[in-house]
Amino acid sequence: MNVLVINCGSSSLKFQLLNMEDESLMASGLVERIAIAGSQMILKTVDGEKHTVQTPMEDHSVALKIVLDALVDPKYNIIKDLKEIDAVGHRVVHAGEEFANSVIVDDEVLDAVERCVELAPLHNPPNLLGIRAIQSLLPGVPNVAVFDTAFHQTMPPEAYIYPLPYEWYEDLRIRRYGFHGTSHKYVAEETATFLGKNIEDLKIITCHLGNGSSITAVDRGKSVDTSMGFTPMEGLVMGTRVGFLDPAIISFLQKKTDYTTDEITHILNNNCGVLGISCISSDFRDLDDAASVGDKKAQLALDIFRRTVKKTVAGYAAIMGGVDAIVFTGGIGENSITDRAGILSGMEFMGVTIDDEKNQVRGKAQVISKDDGKVAVVVMPTNEELAIAKDTKKLVEG
Ligand code: ADP
Repeated sequence: MNVLVINCGSSSLKFQLLNMEDESLMASGLVERIAIAGSQMILKTVDGEKHTVQTPMEDHSVALKIVLDALVDPKYNIIKDLKEIDAVGHRVVHAGEEFANSVIVDDEVLDAVERCVELAPLHNPPNLLGIRAIQSLLPGVPNVAVFDTAFHQTMPPEAYIYPLPYEWYEDLRIRRYGFHGTSHKYVAEETATFLGKNIEDLKIITCHLGNGSSITAVDRGKSVDTSMGFTPMEGLVMGTRVGFLDPAIISFLQKKTDYTTDEITHILNNNCGVLGISCISSDFRDLDDAASVGDKKAQLALDIFRRTVKKTVAGYAAIMGGVDAIVFTGGIGENSITDRAGILSGMEFMGVTIDDEKNQVRGKAQVISKDDGKVAVVVMPTNEELAIAKDTKKLVEG
C-alpha cells in the first residue's frame, strides 16, 4: 500500500509518499509561498536529487495538483499512475475533544474539524483545505485525519482543567489540549520496542525539543500530562514562544505600552523564548556558538531552557510515581549533546544518569544513560510522517 502524507500550513505544504509494505520513502517535498508571488515546489527523489518547479499557485488545490502531477511525471520515476496512491494521511492540528484517535475522513469528521477552527485558527483551515483538495483531485481514495491533540485525550481532568471559572471550560472549551501528540506517541512506542519492553509496563517521559517544544508523561502507553496547553504557546521556553508566564504581565503590558492584544500575542509567539532572552537567535546551534565564546545572554537563554525542561521532567516523574525511560526527540533532543547533558545534570538523585561517551550521538536511536542507571535515557528520532502513514494504513485496511 502506498500512502501519501500531507501536512498543509497556511502558505506551505509538506508531503511524503511512502510504500507501506516496507515503510520506505518513495518521494518527499515541500511547496512554499502558496498564494504568494514566487510559489515553488521542491521535490526530493530517493536518489537524493532535489527538483524545483516554479509556477504560480493561487491556492492549496493548485499546489496539490502540481504535487500529484510531479509524482506521476515519468522524468522523476516515482509512480506511473495516481491509482498507485492507495490512501492519503493528513496531519490535522486540532480535534478539540472530538477525537482521541485518527479517523477516516467523512462529512462528520470534516464538520468536527470545522468546529475546532476557532481553537486553531491558523492551522485547522489550511488542514481542511488540503483534505478538500485531495477529495476532489483523488476521488474515491480514502483520506485519514491524524490529529496533534488526539493522543492527549487520555489526560485526566486534573491535568487538563485550568484553575479558571469552570464554566469557561464548559462554555468556551478552554482547557489544556496538548500538541505534538503524533510525535510523543510514536517515540514512546518506538522506545518501548527499542528497549525490548512492553509499553504497558513502562512509565515514559517524552521530550520533543525542536523549534516548538513539549514534554509528555506517558503512563503505560497513555498520555497523562503534557506541557503545551490551550495553544502550543504554553509550557517550555521555546525557540520564539514564551511558555509558562504570569498572565498579569499581559494586562501590565497593555497598560504600559501601545501594543494591541493581537500584537502582544504575536510577540509572545514570535519574539520571545530563547530568541527573546538571547537577542541573537532561536536556533540552538547559534546559541551554543555564542555561549562558547562567552555571550552571557546566550548562556542565560540555554540555562533557562534547560531548567524548565528539568523541572517538567522531574514533575512528571512525581506524577507517575517514577519513570522508567526519558526520551529525547526533535531537532534539539536528537542532536544537541550539550542540552541533553545540561538538562539531566544533577538528576542522579532520581536514578537519572547520562554517559558522556554514549551521549555523543546525533539523530539515531541510542541509550545514553550509564549501564547502572535506573532510568533508561534514550535518543529516539521522531518521524511524524511515518506515524501518520501507519495510522492511515491501519484504518484503511480496517
Ligand atoms: P520543528 O519544531 O520546526 O520541527 P525541529 O524539530 O526540526 O523543529 O528542530 C529545529 C531546531 O533543532 C533548530 O532550531 C535547532 O535549534 C535545533 N538543532 C538542530 N540541530 C542541532 C544541533 N546539532 N545542535 C543543537 N541544536 C540543534
